This record gives sequence, C-alpha cells and structure tokens, in this order.
Amino acid sequence: MIKAIVAGAAGRMGGRIIHMLEGAQDITLAAACEQAGHPAVGQDVGEVVGLPKKNIVVAGELAQVLDQGEVLIDFTNPEATLNNLRQAAAAGKAVVIGTTGLSAAQQAEVKALAAQTRIVLAPNMSVGVNLMFKVVADIARVLSAGYDVEIVEAHHRLKKDAPSGTAVKLAQVIAQALERNLDEVAVYERKGMIGQRTDAEIGIQTVRAGDIVGEHTVIFGGIGERLEIIHRAHNRDNFARGAVRAACWIVAQPPGLYDMQDVLGLK
Ligand code: NAP
Repeated sequence: MIKAIVAGAAGRMGGRIIHMLEGAQDITLAAACEQAGHPAVGQDVGEVVGLPKKNIVVAGELAQVLDQGEVLIDFTNPEATLNNLRQAAAAGKAVVIGTTGLSAAQQAEVKALAAQTRIVLAPNMSVGVNLMFKVVADIARVLSAGYDVEIVEAHHRLKKDAPSGTAVKLAQVIAQALERNLDEVAVYERKGMIGQRTDAEIGIQTVRAGDIVGEHTVIFGGIGERLEIIHRAHNRDNFARGAVRAACWIVAQPPGLYDMQDVLGLK
C-alpha cells in the first residue's frame, strides 16, 4: 500500500484529494499538513474534510510528518510548494505538484530538484484537459495560418493567479505546434485603439466570477467558420482523481520531471 502525505489538507483541493484517497485501493493517506497557525492544525484530518475521524492529526509543518509517507501530494501556493519540495527532494520522496502560478525561477528550481527525486508537475490533472492539450496541438498544426487563436479561461472569484496554469499550457502547446515564440505573440489584454489583430498573436483572456470550478475554451477563428474546443470542470473531483492517479504512478518512476501526459500515457 502506497503511503501519501497531503500538503494543504484543509484547502479546496486538499479536501477532495483526501476524499479520493479514502476510496482508493493501492494508496492511503498517511499524514497531512497545513501551514503553522492554520485553524486545522492539531485537528483530526477526517473531521477537517468532512469524513469520519481518521486518527491522523493535521501537522503545522511538513517536516513533522515527512518520514510517514513515500509520496507528497501538494496543492498549496508557489512559495509553500517550493519549500515543501526542497524538503521532500532531500529526503528522496516522490512529489505530485498541482499548485499553479509558479514563476519561471520557481519552475527552474523544480526542474533542478528533479535530479534528486521523481516529480509530477501539472497545472491541470483532469484526463479531459490533458487530452485537450494533445488535440489543440493537432488542430493548430492542421489549420496552421489563417485561423486566429484565442484562449478564454474562467474560474471562481477566489483564484489567486491569472491566467490559469491550464490556459498558459494550452497557449504553450499551440505556440509550439505553430512554431511561434509565445513570449512574442501572447496578448493578455486589449483596450483602446489597439489596431487590427496580427496573424500570429495568441490571445489569452481571463474571467473571474462566482464559483466557476474551471472552464477553458480554445477558439480557432477562420473566415466564414470557427472551431471551438471547450472543457468544463463540473467539480474538483476530476483534478483530485488525477492527482491520486499521478501519486500511484510516480512512486515507480526513476528520478525526473514528469507531467500528466506522462502519467496518462498520452505522449
Ligand atoms: P486553497 O483552498 O487556498 O488551498 C490551499 C491550502 O494550502 C490552504 O489551506 C493553505 O492554507 C494551505 N497552505 C498554505 N501554505 C502551506 C504550507 N506551507 N504547507 C501546507 N499547506 C499550506 O486553494 P485550492 O483551490 O485548493 O488550490 C490550491 C492550488 O492548486 C492552487 O495553485 C490552484 O490553482 C491549484 N489547482 C490545481 C489543479 C490541478 O489540477 N493541477 C486543480 C485545481 C487547483 P492558508 O489558507 O492558510 O493559506
């Protein structure tokens, strides 16, 4: 039985991951942590996430429980994730990172730490979105020039980073398929007399409203027609299920940096 540690256990994703671990066959929750001072610290994790008591107390820092599991599942925030990852890598623990909004420097550090241990880093762990990454690259290659690419993402009002990690990844795979440099062609906002759209630009627009779990639309706009690929997450369980699947998969891999396409065998 694989033993998992969940960081951010009282968060929206942490809670759903603990529910998914409850029903899993090959993996079980061994420990949970939050940051020091969080009201969940010292509470029974089952009661924190709305399950029966599990006799696992939420720790106030990862270091207190790191030796209790072989894989860390981390959906927290970029600073906390890097801090947790440094400790887990030093201890040779496998890590699944769902946290989004990592800076370029933080992503580079994740890559460097993957020399020490096995890591899955994925901005979106749903099967549907990972299939979407593959499909939009194929569509972009076929349509090539002549179709304007726009990405629109919508999330709940509490989301802290923008655009979503998923929207950025969609833009990256499309830019790569079209042999464009995303740094040069990405357009994140439009206002005023900005002039006509360029052929090469890839628009990435953000909506924040209410309790939208996550919605991504890629528009390939031609003259006389448009093709739209849409993914809508109805709840967080698809991400949580993916995280648990990634945790089961990563423990058997050699050190390195992997993504959800690797986990799902989509490469
Ligand atoms: P959330 O509800 O704010 O949960 C994050 C939790 O982590 C909070 O309880 C937070 O505590 C806690 N935390 C902060 N620092 C910590 C530390 N050092 N150690 C342990 N726990 C710590 O956010 P969420 O909606 O669950 O999202 C979390 C992250 O996952 C975000 O980056 C989000 O974009 C991403 N996400 C990824 C996917 C995917 O499929 N990859 C899907 C959904 C969301 P405080 O409240 O005290 O800060």
